[in-house]
Formats: sequence, C-alpha cells, structure tokens
Amino acid sequence: MKNIAIAGNPNCGKTSLFNNITGANYHVANYPGVTVEKKEASVKHNGSVFNIVDLPGTYSLSPYSLEEVVARDYVVNEKPEVVVDVLDASNLERNLYMFVQFMELEVPVVLALNMVDVAKKRNIHIDVDLLAKKLGAPVVETVARENKGTGLLLDRIDDFINSGKPKPDFKISYGQDIDSTLDKMTPIVEKNDFLTDKYPARWVALKYLENDEQVHAQGALNMEVHKKLLDITDELNNHLRSTLKVTAENLIADYRYGFINSILKGVVVAEESNMDRLFLSDKIDKVLTNRLFGPLLMIAFLYGIYEVTFWASEFPVGWLETAFGWLSGIVDAGLNDGLLKSLIISGIIDGVGGVLGFAPLILFMFFAIAILEDSGYMARTAYMLDRVFRFFGLQGNSVVAYIVSGGIAGGCAVPGVMAARTIKGEKERLITILTAPFMPCGAKLPIYALIIAAFFQEHRSTIMLGITLISWLLALIVARILGAFVLKEHSSAFVMELPPYRMPTLKGLIIHAWERCWMYIRKAGTVILAISILLWVLMTFPGLNAEEEQAFESQIAAVEQNYTKDVLLEAGSDAEEVSEPASELRDKLATIDAEMAAMNIKESVAGKIGIALESVTKYAGFDWKTNIALVGGIAAKEVVVSALGTAYSLGEVDIEDSVPLAESLISKSGWTMANALSLLTFILLYSPCFVTVVAIAKETGSWKWASFTVVGYTLVAFLASIAVYQIIA
Ligand code: GDP
Ligand code: MG
Repeated sequence: MKNIAIAGNPNCGKTSLFNNITGANYHVANYPGVTVEKKEASVKHNGSVFNIVDLPGTYSLSPYSLEEVVARDYVVNEKPEVVVDVLDASNLERNLYMFVQFMELEVPVVLALNMVDVAKKRNIHIDVDLLAKKLGAPVVETVARENKGTGLLLDRIDDFINSGKPKPDFKISYGQDIDSTLDKMTPIVEKNDFLTDKYPARWVALKYLENDEQVHAQGALNMEVHKKLLDITDELNNHLRSTLKVTAENLIADYRYGFINSILKGVVVAEESNMDRLFLSDKIDKVLTNRLFGPLLMIAFLYGIYEVTFWASEFPVGWLETAFGWLSGIVDAGLNDGLLKSLIISGIIDGVGGVLGFAPLILFMFFAIAILEDSGYMARTAYMLDRVFRFFGLQGNSVVAYIVSGGIAGGCAVPGVMAARTIKGEKERLITILTAPFMPCGAKLPIYALIIAAFFQEHRSTIMLGITLISWLLALIVARILGAFVLKEHSSAFVMELPPYRMPTLKGLIIHAWERCWMYIRKAGTVILAISILLWVLMTFPGLNAEEEQAFESQIAAVEQNYTKDVLLEAGSDAEEVSEPASELRDKLATIDAEMAAMNIKESVAGKIGIALESVTKYAGFDWKTNIALVGGIAAKEVVVSALGTAYSLGEVDIEDSVPLAESLISKSGWTMANALSLLTFILLYSPCFVTVVAIAKETGSWKWASFTVVGYTLVAFLASIAVYQIIA
C-alpha cells in the first residue's frame, strides 16, 4: 500500500482529481486533533495499491493557517510515497510556490498540470517537457473537470516510484547574505541532530530565518541549539535591515518568486491578446471593488439574494408544510387521544417538521452563497470589508463566516462557525467563531417574526432589517471586547488573495449548497428530534393528579348536562359544519381542554423549572412560560416559538402565518411592549444553540470557549434584558 497525497492551492482542482482517481468512492474523517476534513480512498492501478489522501488547499506550507499546518504535518509525519502537487496552469507563478517548498522539504513530487483547457483558451502556451526538465520532476497535463489525463498521471506516479524517485539536483540560492548564513547554520543543525529526525537540516535552518513558529516551538526543546540559531537569525536580520531594509523572511519569499520566474521563462508564452483576458478580472474589479460603487453593489447583491431566496423557496416551504400537516392529520385520525398521539404530533411532527419545513429556504440561501463563493465574488466582499473588520479585531474573511451564519438573515451558525476555517490568524479565527452565532439564523427568524407581528405590525420589514443590522453591530462590538481578553497573537498583516473570477459550475454549486444544507437537515433529524421529545416529556409529566382530573371531568359533565343527546353526538362528530348549539358546546369544551392543558404544563417538570426561575427572571419581565421556551432555546432556537405556543396554549403553531399567533399571544400572555423588547434583547444576545456550541468546541479545540458562550452570553443577555425592561416598564 502506497500513500499518495494530493496537494495544491485552493480551487486548483484537487478534489476533482481526487474524485477522478477514486471514483468518488472514498471515506471522510478528520485529521487527528483538528476538524479539517480528510478524504481518503484506496485504488488499484497496474497491480499497485495506492492510498489517496486529499490534503487541504493551501497557498504555502508556512504555518499561518490551520490548513497549512495540517498539510505540512501530514507530509512530514506520514511521509507519503509521493505528493501530487496540482497546479492551475492558468496561474502557474503562484501555484509553483508550493512546489518550491515541497522541494526544500525534499518531498518526492509529481506535478499535475491541471486546467490546461483554461490556459489554452487564454492562449497561454506551456512547454511541458521543458517545465519538467527545469523542475526536475514529472509533469502530467490534466483537465480534472473532464477526467482527462488521470490514467497517465497514475502511470507516471508508478514510473516515478519504480525509478527510485530521483531528486531534483539543485538548490535555490537566496543571495549572498542568506546563503552564507544557511551554510553556517546547517552544520550546527546536523551536528546536534536538531529536529533532523523529521526535517532536512537546511530546511530547519531556513525555517529559523523565516520565523516559523511551529519549528521554533519544536526547537525550543533543545534550548542551547535553539538559542544559537535564533542569535544567528537576529544577526542576519539586523544586517539586512541596515543594508536592504528588509527582513530575511521577506527576502526569502522574493527569491522564491524570482526562482519561479526564471523557471517560467521560455516555458510559458502568453500571447498578446490574452493578456487582455488575464486582465479581465482586474477590469471587473475596478468596478466591483470601487470605493464608492463596490459597497453599493455589494448591498444590492445581498439584497437580491434575499429576495430571490424567499421568492424561490416560498412554494417548496408551503409544500412541506402541507405535507407535515397531512401527516399530523393522519396520526390525528388514526390514533385515540392520549399520550402516544400527543407525543407523535406535538413532540415529533411539530418539532422536526418546524425545522425541516425551513430546509428549502436554507438550501436556496446556501446555493446563492455558493454562487458568491465559487465565482470569486465573496473574496471581493471580504477584501472590501477587511479594513472595517480589522478595526474590530476580525478579518475580511470573517464576513463569509458571518454571512453563512445568518448575516443575510436565514443562514445557520453551524456551517458559519466552520467557514471560519479560512481565516488566517488564530486570534481572528477564534473571535469570528465566538461572534458568528449572534447573526439572525434561520431558527431565530420565526421568533423575531412573531414578536414583530405582535408589536410592530406597522413597519415589519424595517424592523427586520433593523434587527439584522443590530445583530451585526452586536457581533462587532463583542468582537472588539473579546479582542482585549483573547491572548493569542494577531496574524501578521497578510495580503488578501483575490482569485480570478471564474464561472461557477452547476455541479459545484449544488455540492457546496447541499453540504451545508445537509448539516442543517441532520440537525433536525437528530438533535432537534431528541430535544423535541425531551421537551414534550418535561412539559407533559407528571401530569394532573386524580383529584384535579376529577374536577375537570365534573366541569365537562356540568356543561354537557345542558345539551341534548343529539347535540352531544353532533359536537363529537368529525363534521366541520355543525348547528349553533353544537358549535357552542365545542367552544366550551375546547376552553376547558385548554385550561386543563395549561394546568398540566404548570404542574409539569418544565413548569416547575420555569416557575423556579421566575423569581429572578421577573426582573426582566419573563414569566414561567417564557422561561420554558427560553431554556428550550438553549437546546435549539427552533423550539422557542413552538414551546411558547404550547405554554400559552395558542393553538396550532403555524410559523409561516405569525399574525393570528401573534394576536393570541398578546391576548393570552398579557405581554406589553416592555416584555417584547426585553425578550427581543435576550434572544439577540443569549447562548448559541446546542449544536453550535458543540461546533464551537470542536473548532476551537476546547470546551472552555464553548461554555463561555453559553454562560457568559446568557448572563450578559439577562442583564441587558433587565435594563431594557426596567427602563421601559
Ligand atoms: P479544489 O479546491 O482544489 O479541491 O478544487 P475543485 O476540484 O473543487 O475545483 C474547483 C473548480 O474548478 C470546480 O468548479 C471544478 O469544476 C473546476 N475545475 C477543476 N479542474 C478543472 C479543469 O481542469 N478545467 C476547468 N475548466 N475547470 C476545472
Ligand atoms: Mg477541495
């Protein structure tokens, strides 16, 4: 079994190539200790068995981002037989940067020159044989999207292994100053066996000059040599600063690009006319990232997405609702009144259906976001907002995480928190993860819709927009505050990548939209199902005692006494249209039923908890019924509205149609504007839902921050709600 790792820049076609080789027959896991996805599969080729691994996409092998660390660690620790470095043929200069780093790590590399179709279209001619000769590594042309060149690539890998994996026999020269320093450092590294069990000696020296934190940390175990190498580095940097006004780190990068340029001379010939096409992206950017029009167009695009998503999903959301209503109807008709029926309808169908019903909206939403991402526009958004976001201790790329989380109302914080993986810099990444859950996600929308319908009928869309803006503002303010407490280092200033615009493919869009939507659906099927059932149990048991039940039964008997047998039968029938007395009887019985249900909840476990909390929550204007809903909301925001509905016995809770619900909320709850605003404040600020908390724990690698978002945010939310309530009431 031979390990083959596929590496390369983001979007160069790694995954497409991986799928071509493995036939999409792979299994997915995480790299040890981190939540970066690892796809792996084994294939047979000409009698050899290859174990293929798809490495995360990176621009370099310096440990600036999690992806880069993962890719480098994999190559260093697992020592794959061959690394396939995938290059975007239309962008060779930047893509070869990784190859140079692999070469310095003395990793055996076979190059897949991908996207040659794009290069051809742009009239970029590449002399493949010359490239292979100059680089000293096999190069195979591929078009991964059309599955071209896959077989040849595997043949070449085989040949390369059989021929003993010859190494390129040259070193990059970094100029007089650095070269002589490297010559001084390398023997020290070698003599002391300093990290040489893992790395080549010259590479270790080079990494000291590049201030590589990971290598520093590993090297610090041998303090003596570590110090020596740091001293030599300092000496060189002082010298370079006084003579060239640069640091070794910058100079090394310059020389690498210089080396790449010299390789490309005579290998790549771009015809005159194509330079125009290459600059097309630049031209588009002149407009799209213009200081004035850029932000305006951005808002227009985002608004457009909003409109299209809601328009397109209206019908499927309606269908699903009908389907769940139909399902409830069947259960209602097929089962006798009792615990089982109540469990299935109120516990399972309402709970899960309420969430699944939103799935089409989420799917369209993520499809629109995928268009922005795949076309390269999202990178421009990040670029434009980078400066503003930096002020708050975040980064341009945080915008993507925010938008996915619901920054354009309707997202979901779980994929949003994961989207933070693209952020360079530990501190920025952490703060983004901790603040993204403030966005108005799809599950919070029904709560906001309900409160708006009840109290702000007049200016619905303005208030909704206001809530969205306040959410962004809150997230940014909290980010700024957290920045003062988070001790990790800020990322060094980095240049934002502006990848060329690319026409997204339908397949790519569908895959990306589906991946994120699936997380949401899975949540409905697992966590929400469990929580709905649990909440149902807590709100149902222990139930009324015999005496109370007796009291209600005699009430019913007293009412029924006043009607004839015929009316009783008629009222009990399935008929919708009934005579006046029968309808009157139905109303009276329904009222008693509702009172009974209310009493049942009050005496249930959830009711007891809600009542116990009332002693403190009353200062924020929350009664015990609201408490039940809010505690449920820590588990999943989706259950807040349905729990309110049950607790206040508002009747059928129909999320889409929040107006009647809102009316009965006002009449039955006795809420005032102060209650509403206090609740709104609380929901804006309090704990993320359970699934998001788990995602935060996974992504930050610790439960410390995850618990902080539950306890800390809830406390802050509570204090803020008290303030709002006390001021207004
Ligand atoms: P990864 O990020 O490196 O895994 O790249 P993907 O495999 O996801 O590919 C990124 C995009 O480039 C997708 O839209 C692919 O369909 C497209 N793509 C991949 N290979 C080629 C190719 O050889 N030619 C063209 N024109 N497009 C390609
Ligand atoms: Mg990929």
